[in-house]
Amino acid sequence: MKKRGRNIAVFGSLICLALMLGGCASKAETNEASDDKLNVVVTNSILADMTKTIAGDKINLHSIVPVGKDPHEYEPLSVDVQKVSRADVIFYNGINLETGGNAWFTKLMKNANKVKDQDYFAASDGVEVIYLEGQGEEGKEDPHAWLNLENGIIYAQNIAKQLGEKDKKNQAYYNQQLATYVEKLTALDEEAKKKFDAIPENKKLIVTSEGCFKYFSKAYQIPSAYIWEINTEEEGTPDQISSLVRTLRQSDVPALFVESSVDDRPMRTISKDTGIPIYAKIFTDSVAEKGEDGDSYYAMMKWNLDKIASGLAQ
Ligand SMILES: [Zn+2]
Repeated sequence: MKKRGRNIAVFGSLICLALMLGGCASKAETNEASDDKLNVVVTNSILADMTKTIAGDKINLHSIVPVGKDPHEYEPLSVDVQKVSRADVIFYNGINLETGGNAWFTKLMKNANKVKDQDYFAASDGVEVIYLEGQGEEGKEDPHAWLNLENGIIYAQNIAKQLGEKDKKNQAYYNQQLATYVEKLTALDEEAKKKFDAIPENKKLIVTSEGCFKYFSKAYQIPSAYIWEINTEEEGTPDQISSLVRTLRQSDVPALFVESSVDDRPMRTISKDTGIPIYAKIFTDSVAEKGEDGDSYYAMMKWNLDKIASGLAQ
């Protein structure tokens, strides 16, 4: 929504020429910034997909953490800093995701002089927060609220609301897209609940590397077990591994799962030690690469729900 496109392009080319560095604004990017579309930045691929589903090509969208990478810890690139400085609105997950660990998002917003609930908004606003085990204070939240589809709907509603506030001329379009999307997510949620109801109680346990399934567990009545609780702590220590192996030896669970955005070696060790196979790769903190199964929020949730139900029903 800026009118300085040409100046930025000339200035940008000079800097590129002088420094011969990557990360300078490309021609396409400066063209984007000079049109009258809303410039939107989101922190990860899940929020990017939700935003794209609601806004289509009515906005310019930049997603910070690449597909398949861990959104808890990230080092913003110069292109991220540029996009943030030009953004009309920024969406982040909050509740201890990008704001936990080294709090990369908090630093990014502070450096860009962006203001909470004015320039940047938590998509998770209004979800019922679940805390890490034995914790109950701010900064100790479990961030993975989107793994319950009902929360995913809250995220989509928050995103649509802010897009409409910032871009009144397209507000009706955003609301219409939202309505269709909510219907689709609700249908998937109901289908999943039916599937999980049919699984024998003794097989109901979802085992992943990171303990990211608390919201899922509550929504679908399937307890969870994990190697480490959150990606900002040590991942896959010998103590964590032997503790999970002990739990699994006392259970009848027929399948283990591993997330697409973590190192799968600790889970392979667990599988070897217990003889329980890794049934499938699932998507927790990122959607899949474009064109692959799970390449949208809807598709990743459908993939997860289908794989977990069929894996545990064996
Ligand atoms: Zn995570």
